[in-house]
Amino acid sequence: MTSVSLLPQYDHSNGWHEMLDTLPEPAVLTGDVTCDYIVIGGGYSGLAVTRRLAELDPSARIVLIDGDRIGNNAAGRSSGFAIDHAHNLRAKSFADAKKVAQDAIAMNRAGLDWLGDTIEANHIDCQWVQEGKYHAAATTRGERMLEQFAESLDSIDEDYSLLDADQCHDVFGTSYYSRALHAPHSFLVQPAAMVRGLATTMPDNVTVYEDSMVTEVVYDDDPRKPHTVRSERGSASAPTLVLATNGFTEGFGFLAKQLIPLITWGSMTRELTDAEANRIGGHASYGIIAAHPAGTSVRRVTSPNNRILVRNIFSFSKNSDFVSRKAWAAKTHRRAFERRWPQLVDVPFEHSWGGALSLSRNGEPVFGELRPSVYGTVVHNGVGIARGTISGKLLAEMIMGEDSELLRQMQAKGRPNTALPFQDLGVRINARARRIIAGREE
Ligand SMILES: Cc1cc2nc3c(=O)[nH]c(=O)nc-3n(C[C@H](O)[C@H](O)[C@H](O)COP(=O)(O)OP(=O)(O)OC[C@H]3O[C@@H](n4cnc5c(N)ncnc54)[C@H](O)[C@@H]3O)c2cc1C
Repeated sequence: MTSVSLLPQYDHSNGWHEMLDTLPEPAVLTGDVTCDYIVIGGGYSGLAVTRRLAELDPSARIVLIDGDRIGNNAAGRSSGFAIDHAHNLRAKSFADAKKVAQDAIAMNRAGLDWLGDTIEANHIDCQWVQEGKYHAAATTRGERMLEQFAESLDSIDEDYSLLDADQCHDVFGTSYYSRALHAPHSFLVQPAAMVRGLATTMPDNVTVYEDSMVTEVVYDDDPRKPHTVRSERGSASAPTLVLATNGFTEGFGFLAKQLIPLITWGSMTRELTDAEANRIGGHASYGIIAAHPAGTSVRRVTSPNNRILVRNIFSFSKNSDFVSRKAWAAKTHRRAFERRWPQLVDVPFEHSWGGALSLSRNGEPVFGELRPSVYGTVVHNGVGIARGTISGKLLAEMIMGEDSELLRQMQAKGRPNTALPFQDLGVRINARARRIIAGREE
């Protein structure tokens, strides 16, 4: 028996989740449930694995278990940029690098297409809109990075448009940015509404249990015998178990010393009054990613509320400490917000929160079988909406014996290498250096 040694402990500070209508009481795992598949984790990956298993095997009984309310997890704490390509594209003029970048974009777009179709087919109200994303520069270094980014996009025939300082002001309602690049194929979404909608519209052969933290697992390598997972009030047994548990997967006895457990932080203002919104002008809804990767992301959110979200900084936390560094994060967010909108210094943040990101040192994902009939999909970096979704979908297809070009590409990817010793110190030094280099883009 394995006692699960690392458990998420999220507080109730996630603005996206707090803005939702009051949720119905959760179905909690009680008694002894037997089924064909157990999926642990109701983030992007777990929701995708579960739905795809149910689609491919409608006669199977599938159980999805989460330790919290779905939407209060990292998936529901994200900034809601459903992006098709990262801003540090490695596409240079070399043919192989171009192919890697194009394949990665195609993979992400396959995830976004499937997600968009699912949202539409199930009428999920989550403000899923193809607004694209703006990469915006506030420093000369940032401007240079945008130029390089534009060259990379040219080399793989991706479309984009450039904005000068006046155009940035017209769109963003701040004169903080000197240039921007708009890439049109990404979506913006209310992430907590999306994952809740995905969880509540599962096919009939799925049962979703929430507030059911799995604290013990009995793995059985004999294929005739099931694996059993236990929570405080019940247990579930199935011959196939999928872990879609982000960095908490280490607590299930896998990937020791391979994941880098980070927290990144977001803050959201209270609702702006019409007068405050008019004070700054700009478009009613948009998403900005800083030209420097360590800079601040911004979302202007119109519907259903008129708010501004800022996200920046990373902290290292082995034990998922989402509380003790929150005040520090909120202070950093406040500085970023007031620099951009000095006209809104009197508008307070209503919510500040942290959420888990698990990275690997070489950026490679965990995908596939971890031990006999136990599968995992972990490490989606900051592209969790697209990558978490597509890797979850492909993992279900792999379990079901399907074959496709995308699945083969996913299986051919590398796997996380071993983290360096003194990981926490390394992360702190790296994060500090990157903040200094990002300068005004933080
Ligand atoms: C502030 C912030 C902003 C971000 N912005 C973006 C963005 O704009 N775009 C983007 O694409 N990505 C973004 N990300 C990254 C994205 O949120 C993650 O990559 C994504 O959530 C990972 O998905 P996942 O399904 O692997 O894990 P998670 O979403 O973390 O889901 C894992 C689930 O496993 C459950 N779990 C873990 N252990 C147990 C257990 N023992 N028992 C039961 N359940 C368990 C957890 O409760 C959780 O619900 C952001 C992240 C943060 C924190």
